[in-house]
Amino acid sequence: GHDARRRVLKDVFGFDDFRPGQAAVTEALLAGRHVLAVMPTGAGKSLCYQVPALVLGGLTIVVSPLVALMQDQVAALRLAGVAADTINSSFDREANVAAWRRVASGQTRLLYLAPERLMTDRMLDALARLDISLIAIDEAHCISQWGPAFRREYEELSRLRDIFAKVPIIALTATADEATRTDIEARLFAGRVETLVLGFDRPNIKLGIEPKQDSKRQLLDFVRRHAGRSGIVYCLSRKKTEDVAAFLEKNGVTALAYHAGMSKEARDANQNSFMTLPGVVMVATIAFGMGIDKPDVAYVFHTDLPGSLEAYYQEIGRAGRDGRPAEARMLFGLGDIRMRRLFIEDEATPAEHKRRSHGRLDTLIGYCETAECRRQVLLGYFGEEASSCGNCDNCLDEAPRADGGAEGRIILTA
Ligand code: ADP
Ligand code: MG
Ligand code: ZN
Repeated sequence: GHDARRRVLKDVFGFDDFRPGQAAVTEALLAGRHVLAVMPTGAGKSLCYQVPALVLGGLTIVVSPLVALMQDQVAALRLAGVAADTINSSFDREANVAAWRRVASGQTRLLYLAPERLMTDRMLDALARLDISLIAIDEAHCISQWGPAFRREYEELSRLRDIFAKVPIIALTATADEATRTDIEARLFAGRVETLVLGFDRPNIKLGIEPKQDSKRQLLDFVRRHAGRSGIVYCLSRKKTEDVAAFLEKNGVTALAYHAGMSKEARDANQNSFMTLPGVVMVATIAFGMGIDKPDVAYVFHTDLPGSLEAYYQEIGRAGRDGRPAEARMLFGLGDIRMRRLFIEDEATPAEHKRRSHGRLDTLIGYCETAECRRQVLLGYFGEEASSCGNCDNCLDEAPRADGGAEGRIILTA
């Protein structure tokens, strides 16, 4: 029970206390219940299944969407002395065969698989013969059709509850809106699940929005106010990340680009520099960040409007994980709204999907335009009540005054 969990937490992971939510989630799983855990980025979702996996023994299957994420997790677990494996498409056959031997012989405690690997008949048959203790589905919002990160391979996972009828399943996500939650509950659990939604506030992140004018200049001013600190700058296009990184470099800031069009070597090298060197600014598309765990990121700067309030929340959540003061700043202009509307219209999706995407965008615009406490609006959207935060531009009365010249201000009167 409780003591076994604490022992694993301390002896294996070196932590004295559970973070908010971890105790409740691990308890429910050990009692054999299905759990949907909705917890913010950086809240410590991994331990919610890793601790029960080690308390229970046997094999825990972990479903994760990205090979890179799986490899990071397996490497971290092995460093902690935990027998973890992954079987994936980026390994050669020998490596996968060796991993399977460890799994089949009962040595492996946690096996990380992409959904399309897990849901083959061959894999499912082989696993059915083993002692499966727990199934964890990370980034579970990928199953939601309406979500910004839908993955067709995730749909198949709805069969798991029947295939492994006696095994508790935990789904984890940081994406919290009610529609997504309900969707996950229905698809993975047919509604029979204990859902735990936990603390979304990240009070140490100061929230702020500026009308977009001369965006490079605005960015440079901001970056210079945080000189020597690590930060993430999100841009909409690949080309822009390279332009902006070059611009910062030219102005004496150590900046690197990151986007899915770069070679894997270049991406890994830049990510590695960001993780290990002090004061590097990563200028990236949304390809960067999922699973990145760097505690001392001082800010997240959006040069363009993000895709949704969920995406915004996830992205800014990469700042200030160490609990120290951090900042989220976004540039907001009319052109961005037009661009996002066009994106939605250009998608080859049903009208209903488009309607919801426009609605999502409206919500985000509402957040950008509000004169109220931004944190109240943000948390309110995720179903959490909050009092005025005292740590956003509106609370601090720092929002730039309307001056007629700012693109962002035109929207306020529109
Ligand atoms: P998430 O998946 O929710 O974004 P992670 O599982 O990657 O978060 O954990 C984020 C960080 O928090 C990791 O560095 C992890 O080691 C740390 N962490 C998790 N649980 C605890 C805990 N109980 N005490 C201290 N640090 C923790
Ligand atoms: Mg995670
Ligand atoms: Zn506020």
